[in-house]
Amino acid sequence: MAVFSQIDFADHEQVVFVSDDASGLKAIIAVHNSNLGPALGGCRMWPYATEDEAIRDVLRLSRGMTYKSAMANLKLGGGKSVIIGNPRTQKTPELLAAFARALEQLNGRYIAAEDSGTSVADMKYMAQFTRHVAGIVDKPTDDGVRSGDPSPATAYGVFVGIKAAVKERLGRDSLQGLRVAVQGVGNVGFDLARQLKEAGAELWVTDIHRESLTAAARELGATVVAPEDIFGLDVDLFAPCALGAILNDVTIPQLKAKIVAGAANNQLAEARHGTELFRRGILYAPDYVINAGGIIDVYHERTGFDRGVLLRHIEGIYDNLMEVFERSRKEERPTGEVADAIAEERFKR
Ligand code: NAD
Repeated sequence: MAVFSQIDFADHEQVVFVSDDASGLKAIIAVHNSNLGPALGGCRMWPYATEDEAIRDVLRLSRGMTYKSAMANLKLGGGKSVIIGNPRTQKTPELLAAFARALEQLNGRYIAAEDSGTSVADMKYMAQFTRHVAGIVDKPTDDGVRSGDPSPATAYGVFVGIKAAVKERLGRDSLQGLRVAVQGVGNVGFDLARQLKEAGAELWVTDIHRESLTAAARELGATVVAPEDIFGLDVDLFAPCALGAILNDVTIPQLKAKIVAGAANNQLAEARHGTELFRRGILYAPDYVINAGGIIDVYHERTGFDRGVLLRHIEGIYDNLMEVFERSRKEERPTGEVADAIAEERFKR
Protein backbone atom coordinates (compact mmCIF):
# COMPACT_ATOMS: atom_id res chain seq x y z
CA MET A 1 0.00 0.00 0.00
CA ALA A 2 1.21 3.52 -0.81
CA VAL A 3 1.70 5.82 2.16
CA PHE A 4 2.69 9.29 0.92
CA SER A 5 -0.10 9.40 -1.67
CA GLN A 6 -2.80 8.34 0.82
CA ILE A 7 -5.42 10.98 1.34
CA ASP A 8 -4.97 10.62 5.11
CA PHE A 9 -1.22 11.19 4.89
CA ALA A 10 -2.10 14.88 4.56
CA ASP A 11 1.09 16.71 5.55
CA HIS A 12 2.26 14.27 8.22
CA GLU A 13 5.75 15.18 9.40
CA GLN A 14 6.80 11.69 10.40
CA VAL A 15 5.41 8.17 10.49
CA VAL A 16 7.41 5.48 12.28
CA PHE A 17 6.83 1.76 11.88
CA VAL A 18 8.05 -0.25 14.86
CA SER A 19 8.50 -4.00 15.18
CA ASP A 20 10.07 -6.17 17.85
CA ASP A 21 10.35 -9.89 17.20
CA ALA A 22 10.90 -10.93 20.82
CA SER A 23 7.66 -9.39 22.12
CA GLY A 24 5.65 -9.56 18.89
CA LEU A 25 5.21 -5.77 18.86
CA LYS A 26 3.93 -4.21 15.65
CA ALA A 27 3.14 -0.54 16.03
CA ILE A 28 2.85 2.68 14.07
CA ILE A 29 3.59 6.12 15.52
CA ALA A 30 2.36 9.12 13.54
CA VAL A 31 3.42 12.72 14.12
CA HIS A 32 1.13 14.95 12.10
CA ASN A 33 2.35 18.38 13.10
CA SER A 34 4.67 19.77 15.76
CA ASN A 35 4.58 23.50 15.00
CA LEU A 36 3.09 24.31 18.40
CA GLY A 37 4.95 21.69 20.45
CA PRO A 38 5.51 17.96 20.90
CA ALA A 39 2.85 15.74 19.34
CA LEU A 40 0.67 14.34 22.12
CA GLY A 41 -2.00 11.73 21.52
CA GLY A 42 -3.37 8.40 22.62
CA CYS A 43 -1.86 4.98 22.04
CA ARG A 44 -4.59 2.67 20.77
CA MET A 45 -4.26 -1.12 20.83
CA TRP A 46 -6.67 -2.81 18.45
CA PRO A 47 -6.81 -6.09 16.50
CA TYR A 48 -6.89 -4.35 13.10
CA ALA A 49 -7.99 -6.74 10.36
CA THR A 50 -5.38 -5.35 7.96
CA GLU A 51 -2.27 -3.17 8.16
CA ASP A 52 -3.94 -0.70 5.79
CA GLU A 53 -6.70 -0.22 8.34
CA ALA A 54 -4.15 0.46 11.08
CA ILE A 55 -2.29 2.99 8.92
CA ARG A 56 -5.48 4.81 7.99
CA ASP A 57 -6.60 4.93 11.61
CA VAL A 58 -3.34 6.29 13.01
CA LEU A 59 -3.01 8.93 10.27
CA ARG A 60 -6.58 10.15 10.65
CA LEU A 61 -6.40 10.23 14.44
CA SER A 62 -3.03 12.02 14.64
CA ARG A 63 -4.24 14.76 12.28
CA GLY A 64 -7.31 15.16 14.48
CA MET A 65 -5.09 15.70 17.52
CA THR A 66 -3.31 18.63 15.83
CA TYR A 67 -6.65 20.36 15.34
CA LYS A 68 -7.88 19.53 18.84
CA SER A 69 -4.77 20.84 20.64
CA ALA A 70 -4.46 23.95 18.47
CA MET A 71 -8.11 24.77 19.08
CA ALA A 72 -7.64 24.31 22.84
CA ASN A 73 -4.70 26.77 22.78
CA LEU A 74 -2.22 24.14 23.97
CA LYS A 75 1.47 24.24 23.16
CA LEU A 76 1.16 20.78 21.68
CA GLY A 77 1.25 19.26 18.24
CA GLY A 78 -0.78 16.31 17.02
CA GLY A 79 0.20 12.66 17.03
CA LYS A 80 -1.20 9.23 17.70
CA SER A 81 0.05 5.66 17.83
CA VAL A 82 -1.47 2.25 17.26
CA ILE A 83 -0.32 -1.15 18.43
CA ILE A 84 -1.68 -3.89 16.20
CA GLY A 85 -3.07 -6.69 18.37
CA ASN A 86 -5.77 -7.78 20.74
CA PRO A 87 -5.41 -5.91 24.05
CA ARG A 88 -7.10 -8.73 25.96
CA THR A 89 -4.81 -11.51 24.77
CA GLN A 90 -1.67 -9.96 23.29
CA LYS A 91 -0.79 -7.11 25.66
CA THR A 92 2.21 -8.30 27.65
CA PRO A 93 4.72 -6.39 29.81
CA GLU A 94 7.40 -7.21 27.21
CA LEU A 95 5.31 -5.72 24.41
CA LEU A 96 4.60 -2.53 26.37
CA ALA A 97 8.28 -2.23 27.30
CA ALA A 98 9.32 -2.59 23.65
CA PHE A 99 6.81 0.08 22.66
CA ALA A 100 8.06 2.37 25.44
CA ARG A 101 11.66 1.98 24.22
CA ALA A 102 10.51 3.02 20.73
CA LEU A 103 8.91 6.13 22.27
CA GLU A 104 12.14 6.94 24.08
CA GLN A 105 14.05 6.82 20.79
CA LEU A 106 11.78 9.54 19.39
CA ASN A 107 13.16 11.84 22.09
CA GLY A 108 9.85 13.45 23.02
CA ARG A 109 8.67 14.35 19.50
CA TYR A 110 5.65 12.17 20.35
CA ILE A 111 4.10 11.65 23.81
CA ALA A 112 1.69 8.75 24.34
CA ALA A 113 -1.41 8.68 26.55
CA GLU A 114 -4.02 6.02 27.23
CA ASP A 115 -6.63 5.28 24.57
CA SER A 116 -8.88 2.36 23.57
CA GLY A 117 -7.09 -0.85 24.49
CA THR A 118 -4.54 0.81 26.78
CA SER A 119 -4.94 2.04 30.34
CA VAL A 120 -3.48 4.46 32.84
CA ALA A 121 -1.80 1.42 34.43
CA ASP A 122 -0.17 0.57 31.08
CA MET A 123 1.16 4.13 30.79
CA LYS A 124 2.49 3.98 34.35
CA TYR A 125 4.26 0.74 33.50
CA MET A 126 5.77 2.21 30.32
CA ALA A 127 7.03 5.19 32.32
CA GLN A 128 9.74 2.87 33.68
CA PHE A 129 11.26 2.79 30.20
CA THR A 130 10.48 6.21 28.77
CA ARG A 131 9.84 9.80 29.86
CA HIS A 132 7.39 10.27 27.01
CA VAL A 133 4.09 9.03 28.39
CA ALA A 134 1.33 11.22 29.87
CA GLY A 135 -1.81 10.89 31.96
CA ILE A 136 -0.04 9.04 34.75
CA VAL A 137 0.06 11.45 37.67
CA ASP A 138 -2.34 11.09 40.59
CA LYS A 139 -3.96 14.47 41.18
CA PRO A 140 -5.67 15.99 44.18
CA THR A 141 -9.36 16.85 43.80
CA ASP A 142 -11.96 18.29 46.16
CA ASP A 143 -12.98 14.80 47.18
CA GLY A 144 -9.63 13.06 47.36
CA VAL A 145 -7.00 11.84 44.93
CA ARG A 146 -7.78 10.52 41.51
CA SER A 147 -5.72 8.73 38.91
CA GLY A 148 -4.55 10.19 35.62
CA ASP A 149 -7.96 9.43 34.08
CA PRO A 150 -8.94 12.54 32.06
CA SER A 151 -12.67 11.68 31.89
CA PRO A 152 -13.84 14.09 34.64
CA ALA A 153 -12.03 16.95 32.88
CA THR A 154 -13.62 15.95 29.59
CA ALA A 155 -17.07 15.86 31.19
CA TYR A 156 -16.58 19.30 32.74
CA GLY A 157 -15.48 20.71 29.36
CA VAL A 158 -18.57 19.28 27.67
CA PHE A 159 -20.76 20.76 30.41
CA VAL A 160 -19.22 24.20 29.86
CA GLY A 161 -19.56 23.75 26.08
CA ILE A 162 -23.24 22.91 26.45
CA LYS A 163 -23.74 26.24 28.24
CA ALA A 164 -22.17 28.01 25.24
CA ALA A 165 -24.39 26.12 22.79
CA VAL A 166 -27.52 26.87 24.84
CA LYS A 167 -26.58 30.56 24.96
CA GLU A 168 -26.08 30.64 21.19
CA ARG A 169 -29.10 28.63 20.06
CA LEU A 170 -31.65 29.24 22.83
CA GLY A 171 -30.41 32.65 24.02
CA ARG A 172 -30.20 31.81 27.70
CA ASP A 173 -27.57 31.26 30.41
CA SER A 174 -29.46 28.86 32.64
CA LEU A 175 -29.79 25.13 32.04
CA GLN A 176 -32.81 24.96 34.34
CA GLY A 177 -35.49 22.82 32.70
CA LEU A 178 -33.31 22.04 29.67
CA ARG A 179 -34.36 18.70 28.17
CA VAL A 180 -31.28 16.62 27.37
CA ALA A 181 -30.82 13.17 25.79
CA VAL A 182 -27.49 11.54 26.68
CA GLN A 183 -26.30 8.63 24.53
CA GLY A 184 -23.85 6.57 26.61
CA VAL A 185 -23.53 6.96 30.37
CA GLY A 186 -19.98 5.67 30.69
CA ASN A 187 -17.04 7.53 32.25
CA VAL A 188 -17.77 10.86 30.58
CA GLY A 189 -21.51 10.57 29.92
CA PHE A 190 -22.43 9.75 33.52
CA ASP A 191 -20.37 12.59 34.97
CA LEU A 192 -21.82 14.99 32.41
CA ALA A 193 -25.36 13.83 33.22
CA ARG A 194 -24.69 14.45 36.91
CA GLN A 195 -23.55 18.02 36.25
CA LEU A 196 -26.55 18.67 34.00
CA LYS A 197 -28.88 17.35 36.68
CA GLU A 198 -27.27 19.62 39.29
CA ALA A 199 -27.83 22.55 36.91
CA GLY A 200 -31.56 21.72 36.74
CA ALA A 201 -31.75 19.83 33.44
CA GLU A 202 -34.21 17.01 32.76
CA LEU A 203 -32.50 13.84 31.50
CA TRP A 204 -33.16 10.96 29.13
CA VAL A 205 -30.38 8.38 28.86
CA THR A 206 -29.50 5.25 26.97
CA ASP A 207 -26.66 2.74 27.05
CA ILE A 208 -26.03 -0.87 26.14
CA HIS A 209 -24.91 -1.66 29.71
CA ARG A 210 -27.86 -2.16 32.00
CA GLU A 211 -25.94 -1.35 35.23
CA SER A 212 -25.02 2.14 34.02
CA LEU A 213 -28.66 2.81 33.17
CA THR A 214 -29.91 1.60 36.51
CA ALA A 215 -27.43 3.91 38.25
CA ALA A 216 -28.45 6.88 36.06
CA ALA A 217 -32.13 6.30 36.81
CA ARG A 218 -31.56 5.83 40.54
CA GLU A 219 -28.96 8.54 41.18
CA LEU A 220 -30.03 11.16 38.64
CA GLY A 221 -33.71 10.51 38.15
CA ALA A 222 -33.07 10.06 34.43
CA THR A 223 -35.63 8.43 32.13
CA VAL A 224 -34.15 5.36 30.46
CA VAL A 225 -34.85 4.71 26.76
CA ALA A 226 -33.76 2.01 24.30
CA PRO A 227 -30.60 2.76 22.24
CA GLU A 228 -32.55 3.20 19.00
CA ASP A 229 -35.01 5.63 20.63
CA ILE A 230 -32.49 8.21 21.82
CA PHE A 231 -32.36 10.17 18.54
CA GLY A 232 -36.04 11.00 18.05
CA LEU A 233 -36.85 12.29 21.55
CA ASP A 234 -38.57 15.63 21.95
CA VAL A 235 -35.62 17.29 23.71
CA ASP A 236 -33.63 20.54 23.40
CA LEU A 237 -30.21 18.94 23.24
CA PHE A 238 -28.71 15.62 22.16
CA ALA A 239 -25.39 14.73 23.82
CA PRO A 240 -23.57 11.85 22.07
CA CYS A 241 -21.18 10.31 24.61
CA ALA A 242 -20.82 6.76 23.30
CA LEU A 243 -19.41 6.15 19.85
CA GLY A 244 -18.40 7.83 16.60
CA ALA A 245 -20.25 8.32 13.29
CA ILE A 246 -23.64 8.58 14.98
CA LEU A 247 -24.64 11.70 13.06
CA ASN A 248 -25.52 10.10 9.75
CA ASP A 249 -28.21 9.68 7.07
CA VAL A 250 -30.33 7.50 9.37
CA THR A 251 -30.12 9.45 12.62
CA ILE A 252 -30.16 13.12 11.52
CA PRO A 253 -33.71 13.02 10.07
CA GLN A 254 -34.93 11.68 13.44
CA LEU A 255 -33.48 14.53 15.52
CA LYS A 256 -35.89 16.96 17.14
CA ALA A 257 -33.17 18.53 19.29
CA LYS A 258 -32.03 22.04 18.36
CA ILE A 259 -28.48 21.36 19.59
CA VAL A 260 -26.01 18.47 19.31
CA ALA A 261 -23.23 18.75 21.90
CA GLY A 262 -21.45 15.78 23.42
CA ALA A 263 -18.15 14.06 24.16
CA ALA A 264 -17.90 11.37 21.49
CA ASN A 265 -15.06 11.58 18.99
CA ASN A 266 -15.74 11.77 15.24
CA GLN A 267 -19.50 12.25 15.63
CA LEU A 268 -20.13 13.16 11.98
CA ALA A 269 -20.15 10.07 9.76
CA GLU A 270 -18.98 12.34 6.92
CA ALA A 271 -18.30 16.08 6.68
CA ARG A 272 -21.50 16.50 4.63
CA HIS A 273 -23.50 15.53 7.72
CA GLY A 274 -22.26 18.74 9.35
CA THR A 275 -23.70 20.62 6.40
CA GLU A 276 -26.98 18.74 6.80
CA LEU A 277 -27.26 19.71 10.49
CA PHE A 278 -26.53 23.32 9.55
CA ARG A 279 -29.20 23.24 6.84
CA ARG A 280 -31.74 21.96 9.36
CA GLY A 281 -30.91 24.68 11.88
CA ILE A 282 -29.45 22.21 14.40
CA LEU A 283 -26.47 23.76 16.18
CA TYR A 284 -23.58 21.28 16.21
CA ALA A 285 -20.76 21.82 18.74
CA PRO A 286 -17.76 20.36 16.85
CA ASP A 287 -16.61 17.28 18.77
CA TYR A 288 -12.94 18.08 19.06
CA VAL A 289 -13.66 21.60 20.34
CA ILE A 290 -16.11 20.57 23.06
CA ASN A 291 -14.34 17.37 24.19
CA ALA A 292 -10.87 18.92 24.68
CA GLY A 293 -11.05 18.85 28.50
CA GLY A 294 -9.14 15.57 28.64
CA ILE A 295 -6.19 16.74 26.59
CA ILE A 296 -6.13 20.02 28.51
CA ASP A 297 -5.94 17.97 31.72
CA VAL A 298 -3.07 15.85 30.40
CA TYR A 299 -1.23 18.99 29.27
CA HIS A 300 -1.48 20.58 32.71
CA GLU A 301 -0.20 17.40 34.29
CA ARG A 302 2.99 17.86 32.26
CA THR A 303 3.44 21.56 32.89
CA GLY A 304 2.80 21.63 36.65
CA PHE A 305 -0.59 20.87 38.08
CA ASP A 306 -2.68 23.69 39.53
CA ARG A 307 -6.36 22.83 39.74
CA GLY A 308 -7.54 26.44 39.45
CA VAL A 309 -5.45 27.07 36.34
CA LEU A 310 -6.66 23.79 34.83
CA LEU A 311 -10.32 24.61 35.42
CA ARG A 312 -9.95 28.08 33.88
CA HIS A 313 -8.29 26.56 30.83
CA ILE A 314 -11.13 24.03 30.45
CA GLU A 315 -13.65 26.86 30.82
CA GLY A 316 -11.99 28.43 27.76
CA ILE A 317 -13.95 25.85 25.75
CA TYR A 318 -16.91 28.22 26.19
CA ASP A 319 -15.09 31.04 24.36
CA ASN A 320 -13.71 28.72 21.69
CA LEU A 321 -17.19 27.48 20.89
CA MET A 322 -18.63 30.98 20.90
CA GLU A 323 -15.99 32.02 18.36
CA VAL A 324 -16.95 29.04 16.18
CA PHE A 325 -20.69 29.73 16.50
CA GLU A 326 -20.37 33.45 15.74
CA ARG A 327 -18.26 32.88 12.65
CA SER A 328 -20.58 30.11 11.50
CA ARG A 329 -23.50 32.53 11.79
CA LYS A 330 -21.74 35.41 10.04
CA GLU A 331 -20.15 33.33 7.28
CA GLU A 332 -23.18 31.03 6.91
CA ARG A 333 -20.96 27.97 7.07
CA PRO A 334 -21.31 24.75 9.12
CA THR A 335 -19.62 24.90 12.51
CA GLY A 336 -17.28 21.98 11.72
CA GLU A 337 -15.81 23.81 8.72
CA VAL A 338 -15.37 26.98 10.73
CA ALA A 339 -13.66 25.10 13.58
CA ASP A 340 -11.17 23.56 11.13
CA ALA A 341 -10.41 26.99 9.70
CA ILE A 342 -9.80 28.48 13.16
CA ALA A 343 -7.58 25.55 14.22
CA GLU A 344 -5.54 25.89 11.01
CA GLU A 345 -5.05 29.60 11.66
CA ARG A 346 -3.61 28.61 15.05
CA PHE A 347 -1.21 25.84 14.01
CA LYS A 348 -0.21 26.61 10.42
CA ARG A 349 2.87 28.69 9.85
P1 NAD B 1 -16.86 4.71 28.06
O1 NAD B 1 -16.53 3.46 27.34
O2 NAD B 1 -16.63 4.82 29.52
O3 NAD B 1 -18.42 5.06 27.82
C1 NAD B 1 -19.09 4.83 26.63
C2 NAD B 1 -20.46 4.31 26.97
O4 NAD B 1 -21.23 4.20 25.78
C3 NAD B 1 -20.43 2.92 27.61
O5 NAD B 1 -21.18 2.93 28.80
C4 NAD B 1 -21.04 2.03 26.54
O6 NAD B 1 -21.75 0.94 27.08
C5 NAD B 1 -21.96 2.98 25.82
N1 NAD B 1 -22.33 2.58 24.47
C6 NAD B 1 -21.57 1.94 23.55
N2 NAD B 1 -22.27 1.72 22.42
C7 NAD B 1 -23.50 2.26 22.63
C8 NAD B 1 -24.67 2.36 21.85
N3 NAD B 1 -24.74 1.86 20.61
N4 NAD B 1 -25.74 2.99 22.36
C9 NAD B 1 -25.70 3.49 23.62
N5 NAD B 1 -24.62 3.42 24.41
C10 NAD B 1 -23.53 2.81 23.93
O7 NAD B 1 -16.11 5.87 27.26
P2 NAD B 1 -15.87 7.37 27.73
O8 NAD B 1 -14.50 7.51 28.22
O9 NAD B 1 -17.01 7.82 28.57
O10 NAD B 1 -15.92 8.14 26.32
C11 NAD B 1 -17.15 8.37 25.66
C12 NAD B 1 -16.90 9.02 24.31
O11 NAD B 1 -16.19 10.25 24.49
C13 NAD B 1 -16.03 8.17 23.37
O12 NAD B 1 -16.44 8.42 22.04
C14 NAD B 1 -14.64 8.77 23.56
O13 NAD B 1 -13.83 8.58 22.43
C15 NAD B 1 -14.97 10.23 23.75
N6 NAD B 1 -13.94 10.96 24.50
C16 NAD B 1 -13.60 10.57 25.77
C17 NAD B 1 -12.63 11.27 26.45
C18 NAD B 1 -12.24 10.89 27.85
O14 NAD B 1 -11.54 11.67 28.52
N7 NAD B 1 -12.66 9.74 28.36
C19 NAD B 1 -12.00 12.38 25.86
C20 NAD B 1 -12.40 12.78 24.58
C21 NAD B 1 -13.37 12.06 23.90
